[in-house]
Amino acid sequence: MRRGETVEIPKTMKAAVLFNYGDLRLAERPVPIPGAGEALLKVAAVAICGSDPAIIAKGWPGHPPLGEFIPGHEFTGTVVAVAPDVTEVKVGDRVAVEPHKGCGRCVNCLRGLYTTCLNYGKPEKGHRHYGFSSNGAYAEYAACHVNTLHRLPEAISFEEGALLTTAGTVLYGYERVGGVMPGETVVVTGPGALGLISAQAARILGAGRVILTGTREDRLAVGRRMGVDIAINARETNVRDAIMALTDGIGADLVVECTGQAGPAAEALDLVRKSGRISFNGIYHEPVTLQLNKIVQWNLLITGPKAEGMWNTDRAIPLMAGGRLDLKPLITHRFPLADINLAFETFTGRAGGAIKVIVNP
Ligand SMILES: [Zn+2]
Ligand SMILES: [Zn+2]
Repeated sequence: MRRGETVEIPKTMKAAVLFNYGDLRLAERPVPIPGAGEALLKVAAVAICGSDPAIIAKGWPGHPPLGEFIPGHEFTGTVVAVAPDVTEVKVGDRVAVEPHKGCGRCVNCLRGLYTTCLNYGKPEKGHRHYGFSSNGAYAEYAACHVNTLHRLPEAISFEEGALLTTAGTVLYGYERVGGVMPGETVVVTGPGALGLISAQAARILGAGRVILTGTREDRLAVGRRMGVDIAINARETNVRDAIMALTDGIGADLVVECTGQAGPAAEALDLVRKSGRISFNGIYHEPVTLQLNKIVQWNLLITGPKAEGMWNTDRAIPLMAGGRLDLKPLITHRFPLADINLAFETFTGRAGGAIKVIVNP
């Protein structure tokens, strides 16, 4: 397809529809018609996110009705049509999508904080969250607002581009926590996709040492391949003792918590130095007890990124295109849309060392 060309668009498409909680099935659905400010994409690649299995099992507050809801939110595609008012992208453009589209009119959106839009889940106000409160991308086509589109250079494949949202979340986490000063010691806990990208990004940002902790040896090995200086297996080694030994008993300058689990989250406070920083990047499904007095008395800075905020996704693009942020080692499996349930089983069962599983509609 050439840019600017008109493309034949069918009336219906194959889509993975949530018919009931836990019941995701392929169905024939109308191809969406792009509304004002939107482009229609032929979806190329969708990455399964850690949040997807929970959405399929339990839904999401304000999700589209069962029988209509199409999940999937980390995706790329080619523009095949645009609404009359769209000049930002053209037919034929390769794009990656970020799932949050703020209302554009609340105080948070006006200040660029669209991932915490105050009109969340109100489509009548212009808010969209693809694959959560709006339809997403486990389908042949998806209509997306230009505010969510990032043009992909040829150097980034559709599959790697599907990980751009995760990279944007990592960069937003570093922005929120004040970045990395050159030469600092950064500890990343949890070698999932977020943790592995956080570790590689720390190196790009100038960390002197990047230490990765986790319990799965195969994931720690991926971390070593991605440039981690020291990988610590928490099953074999006491993480706190190891970090203290590596930092003359002082602790790390910055801890990036990516396990999403209560134990390691609470322990992050034991790994950081006085006046250090902690970024909580995980999704915590249970309350976590933190030593609040230590946060005060140790002068700690604690933050967390709400998803791929403040257009950080766009800043991940040159890092990926130039090969410095190389997310290819994270892509372990690929499935056609027809095998979406097998793709999910592979992802949740971590079969064959699965990290990022790609669905190709
Ligand atoms: Zn996600
Ligand atoms: Zn808003």
